[in-house]
Amino acid sequence: MKSVNKLPKEILQEYWGFPSFKGSQEVLINGVLEGKDALGLLPTGGGKSICFQVSALAKDGICVVVSPLIALIQNQVNTLKNLGIKAIGLTGRISAEDVSNLLDNCIYGNYKFLYLSPERLNQELVQDRIRQMKVNLLVVDEAHCISQWGHDFRPAYLNCALLRDLQPNIPFMALTATATAKVSKDICSALEMKSPLIVKDSFSRENIAFNVQFSEDKKYQLRHYCSRLKSSGIIYVRTRKLAEELSRYLEDHRISATFYHGGILEQHKRKKLGDWLQNKTKVMVATNAFGMGIDKPDVGLVVHYQIPDCIENYYQEAGRAGRNGEAAKAILLTNKTDAEQVKKQFLSILPEVAFVKKVYSKLNNYFQIAYGEGNGFNCQLNFNAFCATYQLNTLLTYNSLQVLDRNSVIALSESFSRKSTLRFICNKHELFDYLEINRGLEDIVKNVLRTYGGIFEFETKINTVLLANKSNTTEDAIIERLQKLEADGIVDYKASHSDLELTFLVPREDDRTINRFAHLIKEQNQIKEKNVMHMLDYVNNDRICRNKQLLRYFDEKRTEDCGKCDVCLKNERKNNDTSFILKNQIKELLKNDGMSSRSICELLNVEQRTVLTTLQELLEEGELEIDAKNRYQLI
Ligand code: ADP
Ligand code: MG
Repeated sequence: MKSVNKLPKEILQEYWGFPSFKGSQEVLINGVLEGKDALGLLPTGGGKSICFQVSALAKDGICVVVSPLIALIQNQVNTLKNLGIKAIGLTGRISAEDVSNLLDNCIYGNYKFLYLSPERLNQELVQDRIRQMKVNLLVVDEAHCISQWGHDFRPAYLNCALLRDLQPNIPFMALTATATAKVSKDICSALEMKSPLIVKDSFSRENIAFNVQFSEDKKYQLRHYCSRLKSSGIIYVRTRKLAEELSRYLEDHRISATFYHGGILEQHKRKKLGDWLQNKTKVMVATNAFGMGIDKPDVGLVVHYQIPDCIENYYQEAGRAGRNGEAAKAILLTNKTDAEQVKKQFLSILPEVAFVKKVYSKLNNYFQIAYGEGNGFNCQLNFNAFCATYQLNTLLTYNSLQVLDRNSVIALSESFSRKSTLRFICNKHELFDYLEINRGLEDIVKNVLRTYGGIFEFETKINTVLLANKSNTTEDAIIERLQKLEADGIVDYKASHSDLELTFLVPREDDRTINRFAHLIKEQNQIKEKNVMHMLDYVNNDRICRNKQLLRYFDEKRTEDCGKCDVCLKNERKNNDTSFILKNQIKELLKNDGMSSRSICELLNVEQRTVLTTLQELLEEGELEIDAKNRYQLI
């Protein structure tokens, strides 16, 4: 099908219904439409997706997009589908045959977008088919992943350059919200960009007041902020436990709040998010699992209850405030001991090469993978059980899995499924006798019996969430009751709790697998350490305007103070105090007679310039006047 090419602006209007482009979107789009390579450095929420989506829709052919996370890919593919645009995402566990079919669709099926992870580019099948496609644009989203200096380096991203060989004459568009000079240089050279168009939008968020607030009673302080909040808020914490605890604390004080973290079942997540988006709940207490795709316009407050691990992440999270352009606050709440804890928390849990090797080897043993095998093996990992089996420190182990994921040894996707089985091990008479004395358990037993047939005969898979819904209670309450039934010898209840899904991406070669990128582990640990130090510098620097500090980090020069961060406000107060004192001193001097500015300056032990501006202010305020002899007089 040959479509009549439309203008970018018409496409924007037709599919998205937006009247105009934001920031540099149009410049980037025109650049690639003219056949140039382009690098767009746009802040989070700056509208990077539309840059390549509109470009691709303006031309015949398909756009190939590399993106780092399965969830990101799914999110964008769904959005496009909802707009009526044909898009495919090669994610997760797709069989080789399905991959082949999907890729055929891209060649013959009039698809407009193919999203894939960088690891996919290793597959010959994928390379082959991309070569045959009529590609109109090559896109590298989250392009900072290509650079060691980005906060999320993924070596597989270096594969992106391969696309150049597969489609030699097609322009590249790279996009990121990480705007340091080092990172952009890395992106351009890794993608072999030829005299690229580089566009950078300001990262400045004028309507956000950035604050660092020291408080010995953070909880109380938090409550204070939330109770005064009229719009919606997000509180970021680092642990699931704390998310739940703070949410409960706020609720106990009659502040509408809920919590969100990676350990919550999908349907609960959806409900929590929905309620918050519709302003049914005011405050969301969350770990950094709460982020992607969160685009609520009226967030008036983002509080970081603990110090984040790097400025990029901080700025991105804080930037969820004030999307609608109205005044908003981003507060980092901290106390004297936090900084030490951060160092401990982030730095002591960076796994060394030897530890990563150990985890990898245990992982292979755990799943009984033989040497040279395992490629493509997909499994659920009961993380806590795994750590317990080999007595591994959980945080170090978790981070080691992340290292393995970043370096394409495994692909990790956090999922949370409880697979439980149940079987009644008593007979019906015994059960009724038991229920006579345990009336509280009658309800759940009835529900189980109504829902699952044959449960006296067989071990049966049960769904605790479903049961909770039927009994109008929480899943935890159901589990608690099942445990009681088990303890009393009524049922045999097995709860398996697997919270990580992983796929092995390469055959097992033990230490050799790790040795290939051992040097990267060391370098990455050093960079992480530096990032934490930058973050702490920001927290501790109360001399320079917060906004200036943040923008300077992104290599953006700002000449004016923001006038609303804690540093600016403190300075203003200080200035007000000193100018108040100075004004009184001047008035005291002029009590009996007028004086020239020169004599006033000589008598006061204050910088001449300050005296002159203060005199000017007193004139303007109508406290003084200048007489015929050019002397200042009290009115
Ligand atoms: P980024 O990837 O830069 O963080 P997204 O591409 O996810 O940002 O876009 C952020 C939000 O901005 C989305 O909700 C998108 O629909 C919206 N958006 C993008 N471009 C425009 C525009 N020109 N006008 C209005 N809204 C836009
Ligand atoms: Mg994006």
